[in-house]
Amino acid sequence: MKIGLFFGSFNPIHVGHLIIANYMATQTDLQQVWLVVSPQNPLKPKNTLARDRDRLNMVQAAIDDNPKLKASNIEFDLPKPSYTIDTLTYLAEKYPQHEFALIMGGDNIATLHKWKNYELILRGYDIYVYRRPNYDLGELATHPRVKLFDAPLMDISATYIRNCLQNGKPIQYLVPDVVLNYLSEAKIY
Ligand code: ATP
Repeated sequence: MKIGLFFGSFNPIHVGHLIIANYMATQTDLQQVWLVVSPQNPLKPKNTLARDRDRLNMVQAAIDDNPKLKASNIEFDLPKPSYTIDTLTYLAEKYPQHEFALIMGGDNIATLHKWKNYELILRGYDIYVYRRPNYDLGELATHPRVKLFDAPLMDISATYIRNCLQNGKPIQYLVPDVVLNYLSEAKIY
């Protein structure tokens, strides 16, 4: 199976993430998309990043009814900070039956050349890039491993959602109802 990996802190997951994940899982040759939740980095101050378990639970709840989307906590047990190339290598060993690809926004492909072992990533993995307005894709956009897509976009961020919560503003419609309920019970942010 060809699986797209969508990495993020998902702090919390919102409809912007879900639209991209679902687009990639249904409108490309990817058969599944795994949302890989980045763990807290023990060397960084925790400040606004919710606990790993809560962020994973919210991702799981958000995609529970979609068989093409999976939540992954694979990086929780890998050495931290986790580098994408190391996670990819680990996944390739653990799931030799699957082919993995990366999903990223146009903002990320522009700086991919600064990632650890980015040449190795490009040698071994396809990269599915969705364009984002106001971001220049950079030189790697023409690399044969890079595939460009125009997915529907929702211009929101997890930061915006956390700010709404802090200011007592509603986040209905910005996150799925299950996430809304989780947040109102757990009072995370
Ligand atoms: P924060 O505001 O806390 O930085 P975020 O909303 O950008 O969070 P991440 O967990 O960092 O969320 O996102 C995971 C990936 O999804 C990142 O590569 C990010 O660029 C991308 N992304 C985030 N929001 C959107 C959006 N609205 N549309 C498309 N891609 C998004």
